[in-house]
Amino acid sequence: MAAPKKAKPLEVAGDLEPMLTRLKLTAIRDQLDTLLDQAGRAELNLREALAMLCAAEVARKDERRIQMGMSIAKFPYVRTLEGFEYDAQPSVDPKQIRELATSRWVANGDSVLLLGPPGVGKTHLAVALGREAIVRGYSTLFVPATALVTQLARAHAEGRLEEKLLHFAKPKLLVVDELGYLPFEANAAHLFFQLVSRRYERGSMLVTSNRSVAEWGGVFGDAVVATAILDRLLHHSHVITIRGDSYRLRTKRRAGLVNQASANTEATTN
Ligand code: ADP
Ligand code: MG
Repeated sequence: MAAPKKAKPLEVAGDLEPMLTRLKLTAIRDQLDTLLDQAGRAELNLREALAMLCAAEVARKDERRIQMGMSIAKFPYVRTLEGFEYDAQPSVDPKQIRELATSRWVANGDSVLLLGPPGVGKTHLAVALGREAIVRGYSTLFVPATALVTQLARAHAEGRLEEKLLHFAKPKLLVVDELGYLPFEANAAHLFFQLVSRRYERGSMLVTSNRSVAEWGGVFGDAVVATAILDRLLHHSHVITIRGDSYRLRTKRRAGLVNQASANTEATTN
């Protein structure tokens, strides 16, 4: 019987680095020696080694995607759920926030209303929940309410309203911050209504406000428009009402630097 043929050595197809560049596997390319070294030391078989290389690439791609999503979102500052002290705000239910952090509400197109006086962490939670949504792959845009209506009104005046509505309707999650700090003009309320209807049951909205829902008629300057907006926002919604003291003033007050009266003055002006 003839001896079994020896396997022919594979032809080397080319240089690895240019191929990795062409395939855009830049994490593998940049850490190639280290990764191969690790695989060797861990005595991984080929399949395991390939999985390890792919995991490095996937981690880099995720990181880039998240970074890009964060910069597109235009958050005013970096705040995370890990950085939120529940002890300082007992009216916030950690379980409810943990549930919202899964972003299931974004997947379902629900809305979140974060209501409460200034300084209690509404914007902090809004940014943190926005970040969680981005990490889970949902496009997110943050916009202060006044900037939103200013942009819509200008676009309306310039005959570009449709384009602007599309811009704000596109992200899977739109965070509208500080609704109610300034009352809307009648035209602005109507433009906001158009945006809310455009997004209704398609994308999620997270709205923060220092006004209770009952006061929104005054904010919009028109009870009918306010009802129509609330109708859509509250349909599939999670309403979180935060009570309590401003976090910003808490430490100062503790140190006796401000008394309750001046704390209240600051609270109404920030
Ligand atoms: P507002 O309710 O007015 O939007 P912010 O969310 O902007 O208040 O909170 C004011 C400041 O206090 C921010 O820097 C925020 O990060 C911080 N802050 C508020 N509440 C908390 C909290 N419970 N834990 C940690 N930081 C908080
Ligand atoms: Mg705020």
